[in-house]
Amino acid sequence: MAWRYALLITPVAADDPATDFAGTFTDIDPAAPALPVGELSAQRGDGVFESIGVVDGHPQEVEAHLQRLAHSARLADLPEPHAAQWRQAVARAAGHCGEGEAVIKLILSRGVEHGPAPTAWVTVADASDFAASRTDGIRVATLDRGYALDVPARAPWLLLGAKTLSYAVNMAAIREAKRRGADDAVFVSSDGFVLEAPTASLVLRRGDTFVTPAPAVGILHGTTQLSLFAHLEAQGHRTAYETIPVADLATADAAWLVSSVRLAAPIVAVDGDALPLDAELTASLNDYLLSPRD
Ligand code: PLP
Repeated sequence: MAWRYALLITPVAADDPATDFAGTFTDIDPAAPALPVGELSAQRGDGVFESIGVVDGHPQEVEAHLQRLAHSARLADLPEPHAAQWRQAVARAAGHCGEGEAVIKLILSRGVEHGPAPTAWVTVADASDFAASRTDGIRVATLDRGYALDVPARAPWLLLGAKTLSYAVNMAAIREAKRRGADDAVFVSSDGFVLEAPTASLVLRRGDTFVTPAPAVGILHGTTQLSLFAHLEAQGHRTAYETIPVADLATADAAWLVSSVRLAAPIVAVDGDALPLDAELTASLNDYLLSPRD
């Protein structure tokens, strides 16, 4: 990953009346060390983050990402991010993205152990080339996540709806999917319902209806899925949040993993069984996702 830019943020209180936050940003060398060894983000993965897709310098769906950052911070008992401060940090980072696709990451960490304040920073990097995933599709393996659908309500301390920095489990799932000959994983609840992928939301098409699992089951509410559903509805399609049995994935008319940077990757196989690839529809979804979106 080619890093282009990074800045440190001195977070202000959510009710700070200031309107210009330039003085709270410090540009840093993205290739040089920047964080103290006591950082709890590094020591414990204790923090939350967002990855924003950027197309030709335009950061996509910034407000949706800032809202989810605030939601994740709330679930993790971190101080509420000041929306205008983060918005300005994103705009400053976007100025370093240039042409093509890039990714802006927002990170809010609990900070240094016993330290006075959370740590926050923003990075800009080139996006990977996802052309093959978007056109040829991806094979997925279904993997048991080990939780039933009611776990988020019974055990909120698992932070299942928060985008925390603790992605070791998600990365392990992708490695396991690859060991099984797939490209990516789809998590399944222990009671047999599909959830999400380790870094993407799952969308199925059944006839003219597009469905996705409801976020209340302990998955992230994807900004890409939200945006795509609004677009599909505007085009006259039906959309729905549902509790989706695993068996429905293999019998879907089409399915995609959707996320901010890879965008819509059509699923072409589930546990080795082929799924139809709707190339034309997929291309139109990715055209929409690549167009400037606020
Ligand atoms: N679910 C998980 C676990 C994710 O990590 C992501 C994105 O990184 C998503 C869903 C999709 O979210 P978004 O569309 O906002 O990128």
